[in-house]
Amino acid sequence: MEIYCDNAATTALDPEVIEAILPFLTQNYGNPSSTHWAGRKVREAIDRSRNTIADILGASPGEIFFTSGATEANNLALTGAIQTYEISHVITSKIEHKAVLQTLARHEKEGDIEISFVKLDERGHVDLYHLENLLRANPRTLITLMHANNEIGNITDIHAISILAQRYNAIFHSDTTQTIGKIRFDLSQDHIDFLVGSAHKFHGPKGIGFIYINKKHNIKAQILGGGQEGGQRGGTENVIGIVGLAKALEVAYRNLDENQTKVCRLKQYMISKLAISGIGGICYNGDSKSIDNSISNVLNVSLPCLALGSVVNKLDAIGIAASGGSACSNLGNGSSHVISALPCQRDKENVRFSFSKFNTFDEVDHIVNSLARIYETEPATRKRELQLAN
Ligand code: PMP
Repeated sequence: MEIYCDNAATTALDPEVIEAILPFLTQNYGNPSSTHWAGRKVREAIDRSRNTIADILGASPGEIFFTSGATEANNLALTGAIQTYEISHVITSKIEHKAVLQTLARHEKEGDIEISFVKLDERGHVDLYHLENLLRANPRTLITLMHANNEIGNITDIHAISILAQRYNAIFHSDTTQTIGKIRFDLSQDHIDFLVGSAHKFHGPKGIGFIYINKKHNIKAQILGGGQEGGQRGGTENVIGIVGLAKALEVAYRNLDENQTKVCRLKQYMISKLAISGIGGICYNGDSKSIDNSISNVLNVSLPCLALGSVVNKLDAIGIAASGGSACSNLGNGSSHVISALPCQRDKENVRFSFSKFNTFDEVDHIVNSLARIYETEPATRKRELQLAN
């Protein structure tokens, strides 16, 4: 039995998405920049897709630009803003995605910017008082803080941050990769300068994403070429991806409440099953256990280390795909910068289970029963140590 429980990493294509992209794999192969009939057909599909995305997010079509995914979109927002506005100070957190942290680290190394890391509380939430103090001390700052953390699921109040950003004349970018398709947005109401999305996180194709650039900005393009995407991002458009992205977003928001309720129930069910599983010493990283303060599909569980091997590998061996990032000493290099930035127990193995609408309660039963069996047959380090001491 194969179970896929790593939906924060990527998701399965929705059948409606496959149907929508098929014509663009077969008969609609024109280059959207061509002015003849073949190009026009495809150009119309791109325009329709852009309109769909803009409508759903409360943006205007001119504010949506397609990219190869959220990594590129984050790079574009940060480097574009830093270069265009000669930003010299950036506020971020230690638990951002590497697409943000590494981009900032390069600018810091090159002497373009100084970085301030906002304090996080013991659960990994942004300390808004500290953020305000940093903003007060640093005029014309760029803030980059993610909406939901991909490892622990913590949700950040980007509405509150957008108000602070406005008050202190700061630019606000949010990595919304884990929340686009899962939480409603109305960008006509919020003062967010840049945000990003990636289709493969919500049952669309891989290798396609977008950046929302608020219309008051005109940032330097990072990929130059044929002037596509209004000159913001050169290169022949990934038409299949764009059509798939728009369809995936449409499907996600059409059934948002139903899907989010289901996914949330799966998470709650797993928490309740783990509580009676007989596995001792379970806790949850960040605010992952919270239904209100973390994204409903992510559950980051801290489990006792096994004497030999990792839980994630043992689950994989029996067909269960989850994600690791462990602090266990017998696992070597798997430690995560997110977990390391939090006051988590260092002697535990951290496993991220992340659900989608395609998971079932039976699958959760199977995962928890399998975990219980692993701990029955393979003692955790502590037990093993006690045995050896005796
Ligand atoms: N930001 C976050 C929060 C993510 O979870 C991911 C995907 N792991 C990315 C950025 C990068 O997305 P992509 O795969 O589209 O480059």
